[in-house]
Amino acid sequence: MIRAVRADRDIAVPGCADVVIVGAGAAGLMCAISAGRAAEVMGVRKRIVVLDGAGKVGVKILVAGGGRCNVTHERVIPKDYNGSSAGSIKKVLSRFGVEDTVRFFRELGVELKREETGKLFPVTDDAHTVLDALLGAVRDAGATIHHPCKVRAVEDDGEGGFVVRGDWGEIRAGKVVLATGGKALPKSGSDGSGYPIVEALGHTVTGVIAPALVPLVIEGEHFVKGLSGIAHDARVEVRASTGKRLASTTGALLCTHFGLSGPAILDISRHLTWARVEDEGAYLTIGFVHDRGEDELDAALSGLGKRTVGRFVRELLPERLADALCVDVGVDPSTKGAELKREARRALVLALTGLRVPVARDRGYTHAEVTMGGVPMREVDPSTMGSRVRAGLYLIGEILDVDGRIGGFNFQWAWAGGMIAGRACVGVD
Ligand SMILES: Cc1cc2nc3c(=O)[nH]c(=O)nc-3n(C[C@H](O)[C@H](O)[C@H](O)COP(=O)(O)OP(=O)(O)OC[C@H]3O[C@@H](n4cnc5c(N)ncnc54)[C@H](O)[C@@H]3O)c2cc1C
Repeated sequence: MIRAVRADRDIAVPGCADVVIVGAGAAGLMCAISAGRAAEVMGVRKRIVVLDGAGKVGVKILVAGGGRCNVTHERVIPKDYNGSSAGSIKKVLSRFGVEDTVRFFRELGVELKREETGKLFPVTDDAHTVLDALLGAVRDAGATIHHPCKVRAVEDDGEGGFVVRGDWGEIRAGKVVLATGGKALPKSGSDGSGYPIVEALGHTVTGVIAPALVPLVIEGEHFVKGLSGIAHDARVEVRASTGKRLASTTGALLCTHFGLSGPAILDISRHLTWARVEDEGAYLTIGFVHDRGEDELDAALSGLGKRTVGRFVRELLPERLADALCVDVGVDPSTKGAELKREARRALVLALTGLRVPVARDRGYTHAEVTMGGVPMREVDPSTMGSRVRAGLYLIGEILDVDGRIGGFNFQWAWAGGMIAGRACVGVD
């Protein structure tokens, strides 16, 4: 259950601040802590104000990792991310890495544990531990969070600073940090309203902005939809209409009533979307069997003799999946190996190693964990997260064109950017 988290909801937004951070998600909260702490170390007073449009702050942190919050991953490298150039991603990650994240949370009293997959979770297995610690640290750092305060515009104040406006009023700011996220899970407050704001300040956003880490929908009848709840390790690939392999991932796949989900599908989803931008015929294949080659399977099927095809396939896959897959390619599972025609054998081998699935679309932002696309990283200095377009402006987190694979990588991106921008916006690099 999501507990309502109230920050400084009832305190009026002041008329001016040194730093206004728009968005109190992972990146914005980290930025507020970092800025407040850096100012204290320098012995200067800085008024740091965080504004968030949502009624509840930190909803995404609370729902993350099934309510346990997968804070980061034991090993994070640029290859874990898509979108922008590996070079700029590397620079950001090298300034605040996994060890820094672990230490940061430990100092807040949040001990992290490593799971078999390399994902790091709080030992409490409760995302509230993470959010409560962050909100406490924001307060300790002397920053205030005001919500619901949706920002409608950030404009030049004509004196080198900014005016940040919304229905709640306006605030003048020397520096502005945009941490408005993308469009994933819009009910959390991340509704894409940061994009027009940043564009009005002179930035661009990528031509493609789309859901990523998102389940995939198969329209109409398909045997996979009748197997809801069945999970199996599979190799999933995106292929161009020519058949050329464009992307591949291996991991757990989950059959659902609408189509496909599970980590392997979530990870591949952005690659299918991206491929279809230029090639409508790009498609997805599933190798339910990925540890044996086509020739090996063909030979094994050829040598079955009196054993049935169904029995053989059931040794490789969950029973219902095995039978449904056989039926889908027109092979009765009770067929004896010796009776299996060459063409049917070939079709079965292909279905086992690279079944083409008619994915119609993704499940949209409501079911997506992250957004692909955003402000290109080339418009930001990775050593400060400062805008190269407008001095005094900083961009962090998911508003940028960087999306990570599943496993804690997106939070690591948000923590790192937030920490860097927080220091920089109060004058510490
Ligand atoms: C269901 C789900 C599970 C996830 N699980 C994980 C996980 O376990 N591990 C992981 O690494 N990642 C996970 N993610 C991804 C991760 O949550 C995001 O990548 C990360 O939260 C992005 O942080 P952010 O601060 O950039 O943006 P967000 O967290 O989206 O925060 C943006 C904030 O800005 C506010 N805002 C937006 N526009 C305005 C405006 N105009 N005015 C004022 N405020 C505004 C929003 O209300 C929001 O609070 C998950 C995502 C989802 C949806």
